[in-house]
Amino acid sequence: MTIAIYPGSFDPITNGHIDILKSGAEIFDKVIIAVSYNINKQGFLPVDIRVKLIEEAVKNIPNVEVDKFEGLTVEYAKKRGASVLLRGLRTSFDFEYELQLSQTNHSLYNDIKTVFLITKPEYNFISSSCVREILVNKGDISNFVPQAVAEYLNGGTF
Ligand code: ADP
Repeated sequence: MTIAIYPGSFDPITNGHIDILKSGAEIFDKVIIAVSYNINKQGFLPVDIRVKLIEEAVKNIPNVEVDKFEGLTVEYAKKRGASVLLRGLRTSFDFEYELQLSQTNHSLYNDIKTVFLITKPEYNFISSSCVREILVNKGDISNFVPQAVAEYLNGGTF
């Protein structure tokens, strides 16, 4: 059984993240989407809200689990028995950063492999930071994030 970790900030989760996650869930037996957080660094959304929003957005994908972790991704992967780190690629800018990250993780933990999936063109420009920027300026985020996330961010509750 191949377990993949899909780590990230997901602050908030976007349709681009969901696209990568769905493809990953078709390839691997189980995908754990794990929100990385730092107790000393406050994000845009509290980590537990990010987790709840993801749970709501992925509830129909049976082999996906949602979790959070602090510290090194490879240590979390070891703990969860995962052999794959799943990451998404949009542009060559992502590639430069992801290359370094992947090689660092591999040198920290020899048994881990990073698998990259390329985003669909329609999600290429979507980022959590853009969504945050649109939101604080009272723009419409509904095309960029799952419906449950848009509802919550527009003042709804769970
Ligand atoms: P991090 O802080 O680790 O970069 P993010 O939440 O920004 O976390 O992203 C997590 C992963 O999802 C990364 O691999 C990132 O490249 C990928 N990703 C982000 N946005 C998109 C998108 N629109 N399409 C595909 N992959 C994406």
